Amino acid sequence: MAVPKQKHTKSRRDKRRSQIFLKKPGLTKCPKCGKPVLPHVICWNCGYYKGSEVVDVLKKLTKKEKKAKEKEMKAKEEAEKKEAKKEKSLTWQELSKR
Ligand SMILES: [Zn+2]
Repeated sequence: MAVPKQKHTKSRRDKRRSQIFLKKPGLTKCPKCGKPVLPHVICWNCGYYKGSEVVDVLKKLTKKEKKAKEKEMKAKEEAEKKEAKKEKSLTWQELSKR
């Protein structure tokens, strides 16, 4: 059996081990629901990919879970609508007054 000729210092050992760690995945935001998702992968929260529904997320849920999920999605959509309205209400004249 091969035997090490010299002892490696603590510094050398620790420098080697400093490279041993898990990398964080490069997450992006889902344009539909805003949850963090992996790039080039469908969003498992809303089932959308590239702007169209690919998977029916509600299909496998129980009745209770379904209701909660639908409620959550509706709230999200309404919040988006409100934001859009706020942005629209500001015309250039209003902006110039500020
Ligand atoms: Zn989503």
